[in-house]
Amino acid sequence: MAKKTIGVLALQGAFREHEEMLIRLGADYREIRQAEDFTDDIAGIILPGGESTTQRKLLHATGLFAPLQQRIAEGLPVLATCAGLILLAQKLSNDSGAGLGTLPVLVRRNAYGRQLGSFASTAPLREIGDFPMRFIRAPYIEQVLQGDVEVLGTYQGKITAVRYHHQLAMSFHPELTQDGRVHQLFLQMVAAA
Ligand code: GLN
Repeated sequence: MAKKTIGVLALQGAFREHEEMLIRLGADYREIRQAEDFTDDIAGIILPGGESTTQRKLLHATGLFAPLQQRIAEGLPVLATCAGLILLAQKLSNDSGAGLGTLPVLVRRNAYGRQLGSFASTAPLREIGDFPMRFIRAPYIEQVLQGDVEVLGTYQGKITAVRYHHQLAMSFHPELTQDGRVHQLFLQMVAAA
């Protein structure tokens, strides 16, 4: 059977680092820059970090917003990091912009303060174990809005990683580490879908 192709949303932000991780893990991928790239054979999608307001505007400008929202709602596996988590969230506590809204969580943008550019820590992730977490002007999840959202990780009492069926999302950047286990978990979800 042919390898499944992962789509990497490549409108803005840290998509290249996700691609490098996929290459390391031997996965096939395609950059998604316009609606034509997002064909039916895409078996999973990665929403990278970056600037969520810019990404949201570009999703609308390219015509990708509606098909992406629809396919995720229908079960397309997704891995979202940082700005990607903000795009997926059903609600934001400190921003009025409406994202894809497929993930029932309440997210706070720039939750660690705008000045705090970047910090790193290691904390346990469910199913994975201790994992290096790199945060860059990161959001966190204030609240899960449905009982079936699994909390996979917290840092200093705040939720930093969740899984909701086929949606895996985190406030930190696994693609900026040498640790491929989060991407591996995502590839398993794609293989099982
Ligand atoms: N602060 C960014 C936002 O609100 C997210 C930061 C990131 O993706 N590293 O969109």
